[in-house]
Amino acid sequence: MTQTHSAGADAGADGYPRLGLFIAGAWSEGTGGRSEPVINPATGGTLGLLPHAGTADLERAATAAAAAFERWSRTPALERKRVLNRAAALLRQRIDAVARILTLEQGKTLAESRGELAAAADIFEWYGDEAVRLYGRLVPSRLPNTEHRVVREPIGPVAAFCPWNFPALTPARKIAGALAAGCSIVLKAAEETPGTAMALVEACRDAGLPDGVLNLVFGNPAEVSEFLIPHPAIAKVSFTGSIPVGRRLAAMAADGVKPCTLELGGHAPVVVYDDCDLDEVVPMLAGAKYRNAGQVCIAPSRFFVHGAVYERFIDRFAAHAAAIAVGDGLDPATGMGPMANARRVAAMERLVGDAQERGHAVVTGGGRAGNRGFFWQPTVVRASDDDSLLMTEEPFGPVAPIARFDDDADLVRRANRLPFGLAAYAFTGSRSRARWIGQALKAGMVGVNSLAVSLAETPFGGVKQSGYGSEGGTEGLDSYLVTKLITETVP
Ligand code: NAD
Repeated sequence: MTQTHSAGADAGADGYPRLGLFIAGAWSEGTGGRSEPVINPATGGTLGLLPHAGTADLERAATAAAAAFERWSRTPALERKRVLNRAAALLRQRIDAVARILTLEQGKTLAESRGELAAAADIFEWYGDEAVRLYGRLVPSRLPNTEHRVVREPIGPVAAFCPWNFPALTPARKIAGALAAGCSIVLKAAEETPGTAMALVEACRDAGLPDGVLNLVFGNPAEVSEFLIPHPAIAKVSFTGSIPVGRRLAAMAADGVKPCTLELGGHAPVVVYDDCDLDEVVPMLAGAKYRNAGQVCIAPSRFFVHGAVYERFIDRFAAHAAAIAVGDGLDPATGMGPMANARRVAAMERLVGDAQERGHAVVTGGGRAGNRGFFWQPTVVRASDDDSLLMTEEPFGPVAPIARFDDDADLVRRANRLPFGLAAYAFTGSRSRARWIGQALKAGMVGVNSLAVSLAETPFGGVKQSGYGSEGGTEGLDSYLVTKLITETVP
């Protein structure tokens, strides 16, 4: 299988591409002899068959990345910038076709898919621009005729693992960060959403990225990570996904003393004070909560609303939720698509069921929607205490538990009590309170009167069990670099 996999020439009648692995600059079906169906979550129908990489394919990918690293790490930064900038431009040109692929395999609305792809293109562009700013340092020497040069060098080939909720954005962060720094990469993108990752690879290839610098594999996730992470060619690991998997991959990386960046989700508290403008805040928060059917690691997901506005907030929020048109993301009238897979629907049943058993009232939604695909109604639950599964486990779905608070001191304890700390939000009309709460919330990213915590140019990452390391901004680039001192005495 050597033909193009772009959404153009090789696409099926529905615009979905023929699926494959990309190793050493060529598409193939691999040698593993295994495959799995890719499911459209809106219909439950099969979109295509995804070939799995066998051990020989993974070995070829790691070897190709190692060989390509030798060249790419020495490629002038200006050329790396040009390739990344061209990839960004190609993604923008192809946005309609790729958005359709993304929606078909992941479920989010076409408008959301387009937004995600535009953000992915921004990431390629931003990292490309940043590649030419990887400055070093000259340390004044205490010795005569001696120079201490501090340089930053690419760490080496990267093994990266991405989930299915942002099939363009998450791979874009890992690919563009690694490539800008001068690293090569073997990416295992999510088996649920391979077509979008393939489109990113096509954009890089068509932008002139040399063979072997970017390799894309799919397979049994545990087998792939167990092969790649200890592989001698791999110098760095990056993973986005769940805490249990992250813990396992980090242990494997630690065994080889390989640095690891982990983004493991969260359960973002959002504090709503009685002095903020509900007309502005409610639509903003409902939009963020139900975006991507709630499958967003930084989604506002534990609501703490001041007692003075609690009832008004719940009424308005529930009205917003109930008005969302749930349906196939390809339909322009749809406001929220399906969940990405059957596991998420089962998880919603468990979380909402637990809340109901505890007597927490479901204000709107609370069940599956439609009779095919993986739909769940936008749901609002009155959280009468903080101990339900919904208030303690990341819901990763369109369910909003809304709790009440009256006391500031206890509020901070409640907001910070979970072992996660990815994003946190607060809304208030008071400047002093805004300053105080921004400091008091324990998270890697805090939005005060704002939800803008995920941009190409700002650091993205968590604290506590939400992981470590950053994926955006200059911090994101640092994670693909090592610092080296060269002391040179002039003879
Ligand atoms: P999961 O833990 O089975 O998988 C999460 C991701 O990790 C998937 O993309 C999967 O392919 C990959 N993965 C699984 N096992 C792996 C392994 N051994 N080696 C390498 N990769 C592996 O979970 P799931 O059912 O897909 O999602 C469940 C939970 O994961 C969600 O509820 C959410 O809490 C979390 N999650 C977080 C993010 C995030 O952005 N941080 C994204 C997706 C899922």
